[in-house]
Amino acid sequence: MYDVKVIGAGPAGCIAAREAARRNLNVAVFEEHKEVGARLKCSGLLSKTGLDSLGVDYKKSVMNKIYGTRIYSPALDEMSIVCRDVKAFIIDRKEFDSACADEAESLGAKILLGRRASRKDLGSKLVIGADGALSQVAAWFDFPKVNEFAFCCQADFSNAHIQDAGVVDVFLSNTLFPGFFGWCIPLNESEARVGLGVFRDIRRSYSLPARHYFNNFVKKHPVVSKILKKSKLRNELNAVIPLSPREETARSGVILVGDAAGQVKATTGGGIVFGGNCAKIAGRLAPGIVRGADTSTYEKTWRSKFGKDLMLHKRIRGVYNSLGDGQIERYFKFAKRAGAEKFLAEHGDMDSPVAMLNSAAALPLKGLFRTFGSIVPRKLL
Ligand SMILES: Cc1cc2nc3c(=O)[nH]c(=O)nc-3n(C[C@H](O)[C@H](O)[C@H](O)COP(=O)(O)OP(=O)(O)OC[C@H]3O[C@@H](n4cnc5c(N)ncnc54)[C@H](O)[C@@H]3O)c2cc1C
Repeated sequence: MYDVKVIGAGPAGCIAAREAARRNLNVAVFEEHKEVGARLKCSGLLSKTGLDSLGVDYKKSVMNKIYGTRIYSPALDEMSIVCRDVKAFIIDRKEFDSACADEAESLGAKILLGRRASRKDLGSKLVIGADGALSQVAAWFDFPKVNEFAFCCQADFSNAHIQDAGVVDVFLSNTLFPGFFGWCIPLNESEARVGLGVFRDIRRSYSLPARHYFNNFVKKHPVVSKILKKSKLRNELNAVIPLSPREETARSGVILVGDAAGQVKATTGGGIVFGGNCAKIAGRLAPGIVRGADTSTYEKTWRSKFGKDLMLHKRIRGVYNSLGDGQIERYFKFAKRAGAEKFLAEHGDMDSPVAMLNSAAALPLKGLFRTFGSIVPRKLL
């Protein structure tokens, strides 16, 4: 009955469904929850340019405007990268996911709520697996596994002491947040979203639960404990973020998009912009695939557009994770002295390090990256 069955009504699934329905395909989206955006696990921080690229009317979902970031080294030295213009938004994911679903529905896609897909639901010319970080579609079709994850713990705090509601705090330390980082995101003048992640390669490493680090972070961290001194915790969550794209994301009659495909920035864990843009590609190619074209076109197209960026995010994560706090501190100070604050305020790109490095202005920074252990493979520049 359906040309395309999409499993999962997150942003990736709904954007793929929207694009396929726009091209007159008969599309169904299966969502296991009774409403879109239920039990969401996200910080909701997205670059303005990234959001704009998705083609979703996101205005109603904006909770806060972000002008920059303050990055803290392990010894709490600060780098302040603040711009005049809005660089990012904090979005309400429930509102945003609903907007994505409404747009797909208005073009004719059927959103089937409270329908957990199982193997027997999969008969259609094209199945799009958009079922998140722990994708069952990927397991059913025996796709290569994702082994690298950030295990995260996050909570919202009301009555927080926010200094600047337009600036996100990022905390670096491989002792306090092994292999990832900590964050404090202002939701408004008095509410903060505080969280952290811990890297784990599930083939070989074991780490203490993210919650263990989180308790220390909110209670003992010199900066964060001050912000949260008189605050009240709500909405605590634990979740995982895949930190590497799957080696294969398309097989005969089935493709993966979003977190299910691992289309996530390994530096920050942001997945909506890349996942959503790859989902757009999937939906655009769907008519051809339904008529019999090879699904590998999807694989080739998204990798040629976004593969280099995702690979560079992964390389940066790999190099950072190999450093001790002393080394991070030294590189931090070096980058600050080399003018990283000014450079990033003027040319920073939250999503595309390749675009940033390719800009002529990045020339001094290329040298800096090479000094820091050949993070940037030559072929990317
Ligand atoms: C703590 C944390 C903070 C984050 N912060 C950010 C951030 O600031 N910015 C950013 O860009 N990204 C962030 N992310 C990542 C972001 O949340 C994901 O990249 C994004 O949600 C992926 O979208 P998706 O559509 O691929 O999958 P999801 O949003 O996970 O949606 C998958 C959907 O599939 C449904 N589903 C699963 N299995 C089935 C089934 N069998 N049948 C039917 N339905 C099913 C689920 O219910 C869900 O609705 C964060 C993640 C975490 C954990």
